[in-house]
Amino acid sequence: MSRRLSEGLVQEDGRVRCRACGHDLAQAGTPWKAAARLVERPMKGAGGKAYSAGAAVRLRQFCCPNCGALLDTETALAGDPFLDDVVGA
Ligand SMILES: [Zn+2]
Repeated sequence: MSRRLSEGLVQEDGRVRCRACGHDLAQAGTPWKAAARLVERPMKGAGGKAYSAGAAVRLRQFCCPNCGALLDTETALAGDPFLDDVVGA
């Protein structure tokens, strides 16, 4: 049985998985972002010229380590811990 958790994630058999390829990320109800591939870049310029913020503001993109699908994004200050989403509890 599977249940969609978000745009990029599904819960299946008590596991949080990539929706695109089924790659196993974490046990449901535990933080999954540590298992994802993190792409972090400055927000400055991320939305084109119109968006400008200090260079310390980062856009974090969490991607599937298997297929590269985008699973989630967050904005954070450089060095901040991940916003730990616990899903599927
Ligand atoms: Zn995947």
